[in-house]
Amino acid sequence: MSLLVIGTVAFDAIETPFGKTDKIIGGAATYASISASYFKKDINLVSVVGEDFPSEMIKTFEEKGIHTDGLQIKKGEKTFFWSGKYHEDMNSRDTIDTQLNVLSTFDPIIPEAFQDCEFLMLGNLMPSIQMMVINRMKTRPKLIVMDTMNFWMEIAMDDLLKTISMVDVLTINDAEARQLTGDYSLVKAARKILKMGPKYLIIKKGEHGALLFHEDQVFFAPALPLEDVFDPTGAGDTFAGGFIGYLSSVRDISFESMKRGVIYGSAMASFCVEKFGLERVMNLTDKEVEERVLEFVDLVQFDITLE
Ligand code: AMP
Repeated sequence: MSLLVIGTVAFDAIETPFGKTDKIIGGAATYASISASYFKKDINLVSVVGEDFPSEMIKTFEEKGIHTDGLQIKKGEKTFFWSGKYHEDMNSRDTIDTQLNVLSTFDPIIPEAFQDCEFLMLGNLMPSIQMMVINRMKTRPKLIVMDTMNFWMEIAMDDLLKTISMVDVLTINDAEARQLTGDYSLVKAARKILKMGPKYLIIKKGEHGALLFHEDQVFFAPALPLEDVFDPTGAGDTFAGGFIGYLSSVRDISFESMKRGVIYGSAMASFCVEKFGLERVMNLTDKEVEERVLEFVDLVQFDITLE
């Protein structure tokens, strides 16, 4: 019944046109598990950090119902570090630095108590490790969702393609879909990616929303038009966490349910970008989440009568 989330737990340094941060807590699994925790109790986290990672954050995970027995803490080693700089339009960014540190030797050990998971979120991480996690599950989860990024396409394409072939849902952004397939048209790219193995594909388009593809069906969710976008870091992971958190709470993996999942994911991502780092997603109330989802409903609802 439970949800297992793997991915990076990290330190990030971010620069956007609105400001700059020193090392703050980030990481794909951090954003995804916190986002999912608004929908699902008992989330199991598998990741690795160094001795420099603050114990208060581990306590915060636990307080949010995110079990950290699978979070390895490596003595004398440093946590994964990423730094990025956003362009004026905030839809694209450059990676300034990626220091794998503890990630370079990460052996993802899945505690016995986490083996019963029905929903698996493979957050952004080395594809070989994502694959190892799938292979280490004694029973295949009912739904495996995978996120990745251009960094791995550049240095681990073979492993990436193997891993993609093993999952049910792939989430990537538009530039990555184009890079993965060599097709500029997202419809053509989607068709190619669905042939690589996943039954569902979500292409995230930043402020232009997200597309969900399945066989010949397509669903589109807009992004909420926001007055201020401060920092898009983690929006993709927050989206994925909301998506799988919702699906695991309703335990329905039909296309209709996934459409709702895309709306929940988009709502969570819209919070993420409103402040730097985790600040906004960390302190939401259920009422705020509910109201935000209703804003999405209002945004896309219309009546039409055709003659
Ligand atoms: P997103 O903005 O959704 O792409 O995710 C940003 C998060 O991904 C940051 O908090 C980073 O720590 C993390 N990240 C950046 N590069 C990588 C990478 N190569 N592998 C795994 N996680 C990464």
